[in-house]
Formats: sequence, structure tokens, C-alpha cells
Amino acid sequence: MNLPLITRAEEHNERTAIITDAGAFTYQDLLYFSSQIATSLLQNVEDLAEQRVAFLIPAGFEYVATQWGIWRAGGVAVPLCIVHPRPELEYVIKNCGASMIIAHPQFEDILRPIATEHNLRFILTSDPLPNHLARLPKIDMTRRALILYTSGTTGKPKGVVTTHHNIQAQVTSLITAWEWTSSDRILHVLPLHHIHGIINVLTCALWAGAECYMLSKFDAEVVWNRICNGDLTLFMAVPTIYVKLIAAWENASSERQQSMTAGCAKMRLMVSGSAALPVQVLEKWQKISGHFLLERYGMTEIGMALSNPLHGQRHSGYVGQPLPQVEVRLVDENGELVPPETPGEIQVKSPGVFLEYWQNPQATAKTFQDGWFCTGDLAVVENGNYRILGRMSVDIIKTGGYKVSALEIEEVLRNHPDIQECAVVGVADAEWGERVCAALVLHPQRQLTLESLRSWAKEQLAVYKVPTKILIVEELPRNAMGKVTKPKVVELLR
Ligand code: ATP
Ligand code: MG
Repeated sequence: MNLPLITRAEEHNERTAIITDAGAFTYQDLLYFSSQIATSLLQNVEDLAEQRVAFLIPAGFEYVATQWGIWRAGGVAVPLCIVHPRPELEYVIKNCGASMIIAHPQFEDILRPIATEHNLRFILTSDPLPNHLARLPKIDMTRRALILYTSGTTGKPKGVVTTHHNIQAQVTSLITAWEWTSSDRILHVLPLHHIHGIINVLTCALWAGAECYMLSKFDAEVVWNRICNGDLTLFMAVPTIYVKLIAAWENASSERQQSMTAGCAKMRLMVSGSAALPVQVLEKWQKISGHFLLERYGMTEIGMALSNPLHGQRHSGYVGQPLPQVEVRLVDENGELVPPETPGEIQVKSPGVFLEYWQNPQATAKTFQDGWFCTGDLAVVENGNYRILGRMSVDIIKTGGYKVSALEIEEVLRNHPDIQECAVVGVADAEWGERVCAALVLHPQRQLTLESLRSWAKEQLAVYKVPTKILIVEELPRNAMGKVTKPKVVELLR
């Protein structure tokens, strides 16, 4: 069977698929180059038969053609992270048991030694491609297609294996919910080793026959220039990117601000996800762009699960309701459904849920309960909408017999006039079990004492939620996805 992505690309043929600084590439270009790449991977074999191929290529046409080439040769694509140092790249390459590495020449120095040391085939994207095209193998949809490593927010990144069928389910659910069509044009600014950038943006666009405008790296001014052109219909990003775009807007001349706002007005949808969207960011963005950001919730293991509606009322601080083909339930510690308005762990069942953690059957078995995937995230349903309370492992603080949500406290602290950013964590304590502690980034030239913060916070939070220790920091520790790494915050505060 031909992969549906390929069959659809054949239908879109001469339409533009990818636009980069290097020019525009059609679906036909993608089909041709990916079959050349597949041919070169299939030296001496007719089918890669799920061999893992790790690749590191900047965002652009070559990245996409390589990913498709690996799939068309029957392999499992393992995208590496552009900003990872050698030990992290080596961890992924070894962990997934890659048999080859494909690299852009700019990464030759860092990757060739790893390939040599582990005896892996090493291919540069600048190597000549074959002129003849091999007959490509038939790919069953139940095959493993992708291994994505989780963001590593709570520990060592885990290799999440999805099949072609899982990817199809994740993509078609989003295409239906957000009404993607071939008339869409999206600006791609996200990392390409993570589900948000690979599935929600890139693969949805190509599945729909739309145009994907790829930037080689995020730069707020370049993004605004593209938006000012007024020819985009969609934009998706993580909260930290919206924060940077807001800062650039605030520094722009009023003439440019008008053109920025006009560009946003041309779009039909702007989405935020991957981490909680602070209400302040949502409100500022609405003032600038006229868009009430659509916030959604998902993870590497399940794809997207909950989303505010495309049409109809969106609620700030909420992630809406289950997406098409996705079942969601909330359960207590005993695995029983929680009563209405009561917090519980989010569990998910859908055809988009991953196959397994790579070579870790114990971890896989532990995260499923009667066929439901246990996300480890806590949420509550209020007025029919889900509100994320945070990760049970790091965001739910158990203090003096109470369970408090770090995200809720952070939302309040961000309203303090001196606080720019904050991360709230629980730190082990003999008396209280855990103590509520906060790492704070202050606005320039501001100072803040624990005492004054506490007396301010007591006006808006129950006393047991008010931080008992604060640490002023220059910046919060974050991972490559821009997420705050809370275990590191705990270390700082301990
Ligand atoms: P690791 O599993 O390695 O610790 P990670 O969980 O950050 O890293 P991802 O799969 O990238 O890896 O992220 C999924 C997590 O991101 C979810 O489990 C959830 O905690 C968080 N998340 C995603 N979207 C939202 C959202 N809209 N609001 C709050 N949290 C979100
Ligand atoms: Mg996770």
C-alpha cells in the first residue's frame, strides 16, 4: 500500500508544498526528491524494514524530503534536535539503535565521530543522489514510522514510537477540528524534533495539500515580517514564542504596529500549546492581534487530545473539550471516575495513542490502565471545559494535607507588578510534606522581599498556597521546547 500522505501528494502534484528562503517547492518536488533519498537508503536491500534512521537537518525542503524518504524506504524516522550538544545527540542515536545517520553538512563535525564510533552508515545531504529510482516497498500502516523523544521536562527524554496509522489518526483529527484545507498557508517556526512542529504544523499542512512556509530558525522580527505580508492563514506556537512576539511588537514603531496587526487580521486561526498559556499573554496577544488564541492540550504519546473550539466560545485558562476520535476521562488514585467538578488524572483512548516507549515494555505497561493511557496530568472539568492543573509529578504540591496546583499559583503571581516570570514548585519538608516555593524573574530594576510578596499574595490565595520561600533568578531553566524544567527549579530552591 502507498502511504496516504504520498497518495494525497500525488493528487496535489503541482501545487506548492514548502516555501523557504531558498524558494518554493511543489508536492511533485517532494515526491521526486523523497524517492531519490529512499533509493539511496535502499542500497543492497529492498526494504529498510523498520530500521531507525536518525537525521539532523535544519528546517526546510531537505528536512521534509528526508523524512518522507525514510518512510518511503520502510524505515523509522528519528529526528534529532538542532540545539542538542553531542551527549544528548549520542543518547538518542544509541537509545533508538539507529543504523544510519543523515546529516546536513553543518552538523558533520558533531555527528560523523558518533557514526564512526558506533559503526553506523553516515550520509550527508550534500552527497550525490541516484538518477535511477528504485521500486519502493509497500508500507503497511501498522508499521512503526516515527520515534520522537519527549521534551525531557521531568526526566530523561523517552522514545515514543508511533505507527503510520497513529500519525494518520492524529493528523486527521486536527484537520477535521481546525478545518484545514488546501487553501491554507501556515508559517512554521517550531522545532522539528517534537510533535508540535512535526505533526500539528508540518504533517497537517502537507496532508491537507496546504502551503508550509518554513523558517530555518525562530526570529521575532522575521516572523513579524512574514505576518506583515498578509498572506498567511494559520499560525501555531508555544507560549514563550508569543511572549517574544509581544516584546517585539511593543518595541516597534506605531506604523509598523499597525501593519503587524493588519497581518494578523488576515489569518483565520492562531493556536497555542505544549505548555500552559498564561492569561496575561492571551490577553496581550488579543489586544495586539485581535485573535483570542485557541489553546489546546496534548503530548508526544497521544497527539492532541483537548482543544478549544474553532468556532464558538473559547475560555481563557481552559483547553476545551476532546478532539474528534479522542476519548478523555478523569480518574482518581484508585482508577475510579471522579465526580463532576473534581480534579482527576487525564486518561486518553484514541487511534492516535502511541504504540510503545522504545524498547521499554515495563514503562509502556505502567502507563496503560484497561486500554486507557495515563497522562500523569491532572485536570478538572468546569462548565463542560477542561482546565489543566499540571503534572502530578512536579506541579501538584502536597503541603500540610492539601493538594495545590503550581499552575494556579503561578497565574496569580504573574499579576504582581514586579514579577515578569515565575515557576512554583514543591520542595520536600519534614513538617509540611512539601513547601510551596517560587523562583522569580523580576522586571528590570525591581526588588521583592518574601515578606512583601506574602502579604500581597495572601489577598488572593488561600494561606497554604502562598510561597514560603522565594529565589530571584536571572532566568528560569528551560529545555529546547522552551518549557520550564521544574526538577531543576527544585534543585535551585532546595
Ligand atoms: P517529559 O515527558 O520528558 O517530561 P514533556 O512531558 O514536557 O517531557 P511533551 O510530550 O513535549 O513532553 O509534553 C507534554 C506535556 O506538556 C503534557 O503532559 C502536559 O503536561 C504539558 N502540556 C501540553 N499542552 C499543555 C497545555 N495547553 N497546558 C498545560 N500543559 C500542557
Ligand atoms: Mg511527558
